[in-house]
Amino acid sequence: TSAGRNAPATNGHYRNGSATTSDASSERIQIINDEKQFNPELTKQIEKWGLLSAGFDYNLVAVFGSQSTGKSTLLNRLFGTNFDVMDETRRQQTTKGIWMCKAKGANVLVMDVEGTDGRERGEDQDFERKSALFSLASSEVLIVNLWEHQVGLYQGANMGLLKTVFEVNLGLFGKKTPDGRNQRTLLLFVIRDHIGTTPLANLQATLTQDMQKIWDSLSKPPELKDRQLSDYFDLSFFALPHKVLVPDKFEAEVQELKKRFTEKPREDYVFSPAYHKRIPADGVAFYMEGIWEQVQTNKDLDLPTQQELLAQFRCDEISSAALAEFNEQSKSQKRPIETGKVVEGLGKMMRAWRSQALERYDRDASRYHQGVYKRKRVDLIGVIDSTLSALFLGQLKNLHKSSLASYKKEMLDGMRGEGYNFADVVASARARLEKRFLQGAQEALVEGTDWSYEEELGLLREEARIVADQCRKDETKKMVNVIERNFKKQISEPVDVYLNQPSPDMWDKVLKVFRETLDKAESSYLTKAKSFDCTDEENATALTTLRKRAWLALRAKIDEQTADTIFLGKLRNYFEERFRYDESGTPRVWKPDDDIDTAFRKAKEQTLELVPLYWKIKPLDLSLEFTLPSETSDSLTSTEEFDFPSTLVVFSETKALDLTNRFRKDADAYYVEAKRSMVSSVAQ
Ligand code: GDP
Ligand code: MG
Repeated sequence: TSAGRNAPATNGHYRNGSATTSDASSERIQIINDEKQFNPELTKQIEKWGLLSAGFDYNLVAVFGSQSTGKSTLLNRLFGTNFDVMDETRRQQTTKGIWMCKAKGANVLVMDVEGTDGRERGEDQDFERKSALFSLASSEVLIVNLWEHQVGLYQGANMGLLKTVFEVNLGLFGKKTPDGRNQRTLLLFVIRDHIGTTPLANLQATLTQDMQKIWDSLSKPPELKDRQLSDYFDLSFFALPHKVLVPDKFEAEVQELKKRFTEKPREDYVFSPAYHKRIPADGVAFYMEGIWEQVQTNKDLDLPTQQELLAQFRCDEISSAALAEFNEQSKSQKRPIETGKVVEGLGKMMRAWRSQALERYDRDASRYHQGVYKRKRVDLIGVIDSTLSALFLGQLKNLHKSSLASYKKEMLDGMRGEGYNFADVVASARARLEKRFLQGAQEALVEGTDWSYEEELGLLREEARIVADQCRKDETKKMVNVIERNFKKQISEPVDVYLNQPSPDMWDKVLKVFRETLDKAESSYLTKAKSFDCTDEENATALTTLRKRAWLALRAKIDEQTADTIFLGKLRNYFEERFRYDESGTPRVWKPDDDIDTAFRKAKEQTLELVPLYWKIKPLDLSLEFTLPSETSDSLTSTEEFDFPSTLVVFSETKALDLTNRFRKDADAYYVEAKRSMVSSVAQ
């Protein structure tokens, strides 16, 4: 229904009030034109009057009565309005329609009805009836204006019209308002040209009786048949002297009547809250338009439904306005969040935007139908929260990223230089990480939502753990490297010494010093690893690596000592010591009867025994044998696999044969030299 109502009148035109001053407060508006169209500009006019945000703080008064009974004149006097008054000299009809003015100096909207006398034409009767229905339904006080001589005259005083109006609208008055009250209206009878011969009290009695008669004669809907006139109407009376005959008295009494509209503490103050239609000022135009439409289509007026429709329309409008402002505000932080920024004070901003939007909505919408107001409020919160939730989640994500980055940096800074405790560095970086994240996340929460940062926190913790693990692995690697370097230094000299003193237990000595040095290295690793919080598995891996590297270091040392030339040199020395020196270490001078051949053979055989000794790492004491699982690969550097048993072999069979042959040649040279020296000594 509201779509049709909002469409502006297309073929009608509205007359603007010819305001005498430029002051908007004295402007008037034709709310219903002579083509019975409602003016879509009414809200704008109410705004110009400065009443748009008046809420319930305004009143509405209308007038009812026959043509040319001084209605406009009275309204202008009472309220300082400027409704058209019929020109005395020309007696011409003013424009038909319903006009509205704002009372001077008060929040009172005044409606005046213009029209021909209803008795003349059927068409005009229709307009009169509709205007009366409309006035009655929308105003708090309906001034019933009539000449004194019309009192008691059923037709003359428009009582027939009043009866029709009452009857058609009993539905309207019968229903209670949404807050459970009866819709009440004050009928203020103003008796014009009161001469004074008949006291007001008598006139009042007659009018009251007439009203009662009208009420009793109404054909009422069955459910409302027991309702009394007094259930819906209060009656009030006032008499005005003749305006032309006694203008001063007229003026004085008008001022007296005026007090009833302006002096609030009076007993007969007309604007009782009971008459107020409880339509906020910003919704009054829409509401009246709805009433007019129903009057037009001749539907029974149903105020509660009207109020609900009005509430839906207005609450939507108010909600949209609040949302527009909110969207403008929240948009400002959308980009920064999307580009990964942690927005400082986002939560504070979000809470402010949200509560501002809701306050704004509540301020304007809470005056409307409560059910509708609350329903639309839930909708509004839903839209707001979904926008905010996206910002919240974005902020969490950015917070996660940035705090993890600072965490990594702190870890690296903490491990710079020497003498730091790895576990302490990790623990404090971790504590700061959580603190930073939680502070940010908690700040971004908004009361009234069910948001949570637990999931993000869980992810963050997991990632922090992975980073710490990686650091620990790197640290362990570094540590193993340092231990390996020390190991090499320590093992170098003793192994050199042992390998230069061939003896059956040479390998026992080598392996013993290897074992001892490795034990020291291992325990040094374990001591340091304790502060790293390494897992057993990590320790096992590191130790295996250490053992393998140690073994390879030993093997490198052995290879160095058994390289061809060095090893041949060892053999030569060994041989020379046995062949060219006697048991006491004195150089031999061969004499003719010396058995060179036997000495040579013996020395050579003894020397050649060294080849199998060096050939394979083989201690006499089997308990000294060192083993490594053959599939061991260096997990810290992940080099290729190696086969431990093959590393026990120092040189191959071919190489052993080659070395033996080369040594034999060397030995043979010594032999020839010995022979020559003997021959030459004989020759002398
Ligand atoms: P409306 O058609 O009911 O609005 O009547 P108007 O206010 O236009 O007045 C119609 C005529 O009655 C005008 O010429 C007024 O000057 C005159 N008039 C206004 N008030 C009174 C009054 O109290 N007594 C008499 N006798 N004439 C009045
Ligand atoms: Mg008039």
